[in-house]
Parts: sequence; C-alpha cells; structure tokens
Amino acid sequence: MAEYDYDVIFIGAGPGGYVGAIRTAQLGLKTACVEARETLGGTCLNVGCIPSKALLHGSEKFAEAANGTLARYGIKLGKVELDLAALQADKAEAVKGLTGGIEFLFKKNKVDWLKGYGTFKDAHTVTVAGKDYTAKEVVIATGSSVTPLPGVEVDNDKGVIVDSTGALALSKVPEHLVVIGGGVIGLEMGSVWRRLGAKVTVVEFLDQLLPGMDGDVRKEAAKIFKKQGLELKLGTKVTAASVKGKQATLTLEPAKGGPAETLEADCVLVAIGRRPHTAGLGLDKIGLDVNARGQIETGPDFRTKVDGVRAIGDVIPGPMLAHKAEDEGIAVAEYIATGVGIVNHDVIPGVVYTNPEFAGVGLTEEQAREKGEIKVGKFPMMANSRAKTNHEPDGFVKVIADAKTDKVLGVWAIASLAGTMIAEAALAMEFGATSEDIAYTCHAHPTHSEAVKEAAMGVMGKPIHI
Ligand code: FAD
Ligand code: NAD
Repeated sequence: MAEYDYDVIFIGAGPGGYVGAIRTAQLGLKTACVEARETLGGTCLNVGCIPSKALLHGSEKFAEAANGTLARYGIKLGKVELDLAALQADKAEAVKGLTGGIEFLFKKNKVDWLKGYGTFKDAHTVTVAGKDYTAKEVVIATGSSVTPLPGVEVDNDKGVIVDSTGALALSKVPEHLVVIGGGVIGLEMGSVWRRLGAKVTVVEFLDQLLPGMDGDVRKEAAKIFKKQGLELKLGTKVTAASVKGKQATLTLEPAKGGPAETLEADCVLVAIGRRPHTAGLGLDKIGLDVNARGQIETGPDFRTKVDGVRAIGDVIPGPMLAHKAEDEGIAVAEYIATGVGIVNHDVIPGVVYTNPEFAGVGLTEEQAREKGEIKVGKFPMMANSRAKTNHEPDGFVKVIADAKTDKVLGVWAIASLAGTMIAEAALAMEFGATSEDIAYTCHAHPTHSEAVKEAAMGVMGKPIHI
C-alpha cells in the first residue's frame, strides 16, 4: 500500500490551486484538490475577475447604446432601456460555463475534487468533511477575502452596505453608490454602476487613486474618472456608517484631520483591499504562523517553514492577481515534480479593466528613478491613428528604460486596449529587451499597439507621429 493517499493535495481551487493541481497531474503525480465552494475556480471565477468583467462588458454596451456613441456610427436606436436581470443572467452564464469547465478539466486530468472545508490534522493529513486524506506534499492555495472596515458593517443580503460580492449581485441600479476605496475594485465596480445610471462617489484615503501604479497614470486616472462623472473625494476617510431602512449615512473626515461631513447613499461598497484567507485551516496544528499582514511566508520554491507544506497565490506575499496565482500554481507543481519551477515576480502585469484600461508592468517611473538614471518615452493615444479613428483619445503609453543600458524597466499604458497591449511589454521585459528592440520591432498598422513602439522610439527622442 502506498505511504500516502496522494502525492499532492492542494487546498483551494482558485487560479492558484486548480491550475497547480492540473499541472501536477499532468506531470504524473496523484493529485487532489480540496474546495469548499459549490463550484471550482475560486474567487476569480465565482465572485471576482469573471463576473466583474461580464458586468464591465455589458455595461459598456449599454452605455454605448444609451449615451449616443452608437448613434455616431449611424446606428439608430429607439428608447434604450436597461434589463438588469438579463445582464445579471449573462454574468451568471459566464461564471457557470467557466467554473463547469474547470470541473471538466479536473476529470480529464484525473484530479480528485475533495468537496468541503480542508483543515490540517498534521503536515501530511488534511481532514475534509470528516474524512482524513494524506499526501506527501500539501499546497495551501486558500486565497483571500475582503478586508473589513471597522464601523462599516457589510451585509450583502440587505444590499445597503456591500463588498465586491454584493456589488456584483445588485438587483437594482443604486441612486447613489458610495465606494470606499479608490483601488481596482472600487473603480471597476464604480464604473459599472455609473454606466448603468447610478451617481457614484469614490472616497479614497490617499491623495490619488490606484496605489501601486505609476504616478502619471494615477494623476491621469483621476482626470479620466472625473470626466466620466465619478465624484472623487481624495485624501478622505470614512469614520462611521449607520443604516436606516434602505439608506446609509456615512461620516467622512479629511485623512489628515479636519471637520467631518456626512454623505447619504442607498448603496455603499467597501473596497479597501483583501487579506489572506487562513481562517479555519488549522495552521496552529502544524506549527505554521503568518506574518504581520496575515500572509504565509515561503521560500522561492514556495516551501513554508513546515516540511511538506507549500503555499501559493493570494495567501502569500505579492500582488493579489489571478495570473500571479496561476503562474505560481504551475511553478509549485514543477518544483514538486522536477525540482525546478519558474515565476518572474519582477514581470507581473497589472490591469484595471475600466474604459479606458489602465495597465503596467515592471517599475513605476518613481521606483526606477530611485534605482538610477533612466530615460522615458511617452506617446499619447490621441496621436495613435487607430485610437483616434475609434474615438478613443484618452491615455498614453510610457516606456521607462535604463539610461546606460537602454534595458526596459517598466511600461505603463492607459488605452482602451491597454490590458492586451501590456502583454507585449511583459514579453519584451521577460526577454531582457531594450527600448530599441521594441522600437525596431515591426508593429501592424493601424493598431493601438503602435503606441508602444512609438513610446519606445520616444526613449531615443525620435517618435514619428508627435
Ligand atoms: P482564490 O481565488 O481566492 O481561491 C481560493 C479558494 O480556496 C476559494 O475558492 C475558497 O473557497 C477556497 N478555500 C479557502 N480555504 C479553504 C479551505 N480551508 N478548504 C477548502 N477550500 C478553501 N485578479 C486578476 O488578475 N484580474 C482580475 O480581473 C481580477 N478581478 C477581481 C475582481 C474582484 C471583484 C475580486 C474580488 C478579485 C479580482 N481579482 C482579479 C483577484 C483574483 O480573484 C485573485 O487574485 C485570485 O482569485 C487569487 O487566486 P487564489 O487561487 O490565490 O485564491
Ligand atoms: P486595492 O488595494 O486595489 O485598493 C484599496 C483602496 O482603498 C486603496 O486605494 C486604499 O488607499 C484605499 N483605502 C484603504 N483604507 C481606506 C479607508 N479607510 N477609506 C478610504 N480608502 C481606503 O484593493 P481592492 O480594490 O479592494 O482590491 C483588492 C485586491 O483585488 C487587489 O489587491 C487587486 O489586486 C485585486 N483585484 C484585481 C483586479 C484586476 O486585476 N483588474 C480587479 C479587482 C481586484
């Protein structure tokens, strides 16, 4: 009889755990994945990336029809009305299709889904629904959950103060949505409900939106979202909230201190970040602790300090992004099976899927300047023929290169297709490209991506179209 039931057990079937489990099975190891939800795919597929993108896409279509954008192309419409239930049904169909797809992939790759909440009994034993399962290696991929804001209690069922899960499921367009937190979730969900007709106010603690992004990008973001009708209260904190019936009253104060004001809203979205999810996992039983931010610390091969236990995805340090979790899933599988795995944590793109999209990879200009001398090339989307033709003038591409070696250190883009455009920048950086390499790579015309080439040409001071 084998010493263990499985070679590897993953706990959590989000982009980290499900991708890791499939790759581990592909590499010939007997694999199981524990998941407590009714469906596979984790936060990302169930209540994150996918449903939010479905609503972003649908609300863009609605706005195009309702605000006259389509009329510009000679498309005449009658009275445009929103059927929110149909939009929500479209979202649900996308989620169902993709989560069901993971179940199919598990069967195809012979990954066992252990249904229920997993708890460590010891480092090689996980208890699920009252049964013990043993494995030579256990990988924690339990993801993250919403960071609560003291004094502002979320109740998704009531639908007045909600988190991202509640904001994805509203059955009525709010009159006034107040978003607490001008980060990725706040701006994506704020954009959805603004486009569908809500008045939206974003309350952000810091002086700018989108922390972590390049300074120019953050400044431009404020201009663009204001133009789109989002009211921004920057440098402001929410100190209290009360709910009476279907109405919330928020108390706001300047972040640096000062007189308080109140704000009424029929919906409040709390989006101040996410924190690693380790509750109920029984880490104490295996002698594994978390750091001050609640994360599990790992070495480069994702080993924790407990022999036989590794961790990946949102539960460990680094950006909380699905593609980062996926790449770590593949790498941990390959480390376990072969001893070698690869994730380049310096080249992980980030994208905000608003319209336009905000994207970046590598260092911000501020970070790069701190490290040494740099050259910067910047090209406005207004001067890109395709963006201009499509009436998408907002944004720019910025390439940051080392002044001596010309090696690309970071690329930032605001454009309708920035999320797609940033992929070439990531690939270039992965191959150690210089700005000259990008500038001399032929880019198809007319495409938004030509702006990347022109920004790279700008590093040498020689763009053509400005
Ligand atoms: P998760 O996806 O959180 O999966 C962990 C899974 O583990 C969950 O299904 C949970 O039920 C399960 N679990 C936890 N504990 C246990 C246990 N003890 N036993 C059994 N099961 C357990 N990222 C992007 O890159 N792009 C986006 O567009 C994007 N949009 C987002 C939109 C929203 C609204 C949110 C909330 C997040 C978004 N993210 C996005 C972030 C992305 O969802 C996460 O980075 C990603 O899901 C992390 O993957 P993970 O595998 O580490 O964890
Ligand atoms: P975030 O960290 O992106 O933004 C939170 C914002 O809230 C920050 O700007 C912060 O300064 C602000 N804040 C914190 N406390 C506050 C307070 N008391 N009052 C007002 N503002 C306050 O977090 P998020 O938007 O909640 O998203 C969580 C995670 O999910 C992120 O790490 C992100 O990577 C991931 N995510 C990614 C995508 C994407 O890739 N497109 C989409 C959604 C979520």
